[in-house]
Amino acid sequence: MESAAALQQSQVSAAVHAVRSRIAAACERVGRNPREVTLVGVTKTVPAERVRDALDHGISHLGESRLQEAIDKMRVLSDRAPTWHFIGHLQGNKARRAVELFDVIASVDSLELAERLEAGAEEIGRELRIHVQVKLGDEPGKHGIAIESLPDLVTAMDALPSLTVVGLMAIPPRRPDAASSRADFRLLKRAFDDLRAVRPEIEHLSMGMSSDFEMAIEEGATEVRVGTLLFGAR
Ligand SMILES: *Cc1c(COP(=O)(O)O)cnc(C)c1O
Repeated sequence: MESAAALQQSQVSAAVHAVRSRIAAACERVGRNPREVTLVGVTKTVPAERVRDALDHGISHLGESRLQEAIDKMRVLSDRAPTWHFIGHLQGNKARRAVELFDVIASVDSLELAERLEAGAEEIGRELRIHVQVKLGDEPGKHGIAIESLPDLVTAMDALPSLTVVGLMAIPPRRPDAASSRADFRLLKRAFDDLRAVRPEIEHLSMGMSSDFEMAIEEGATEVRVGTLLFGAR
């Protein structure tokens, strides 16, 4: 009989395989190479041992949205070296700690936060890759900078030598129909292309989650952040 641990491992393995197949199919529909798309496994609320199973089955990028939870998991997984992405809302007073721990901060949406990250990065002498989080739509309480303000924010960040903007990230609002969601992805892709034309180092477009990653890929995502489909409902 299979042990519970072995069963859990095979489930994660099957889920990773299924998501990868869907990524490949989405790429094929629009003539893209699946290698252009990074799968970030989103592990909030997922226990470290399940995350380890995912690392054993081909996931090498992890997204965490709560700092303390991430710290606990990093401790358990200290024998591994995944690329850690911080994808949640980051409070200024936690910026310093986040700089120490994460490879990418994917949710920078203000110059103030960027300056805090810069101070932390300078202090420990590291270069930090960040994504600017863009807010699509006007849902109250959602984080991200308005798309119109994006060029100015990116320009202002030129003054912060330890930070390099390497991508854009968004969590699009819920829309009543697929066409509107697609329009959101297109809007972000256009902003990405405009920036990239003058800043080739901006190479990551992080959009798409369990419910919409295929559409995001069709519209140009280079990074999809998938939690539920890999690890089950939270
Ligand atoms: C939770 C989360 C995800 C993953 O969402 P799923 O629907 O579970 O795939 C992606 N991005 C961010 C920023 C998240 O907080």
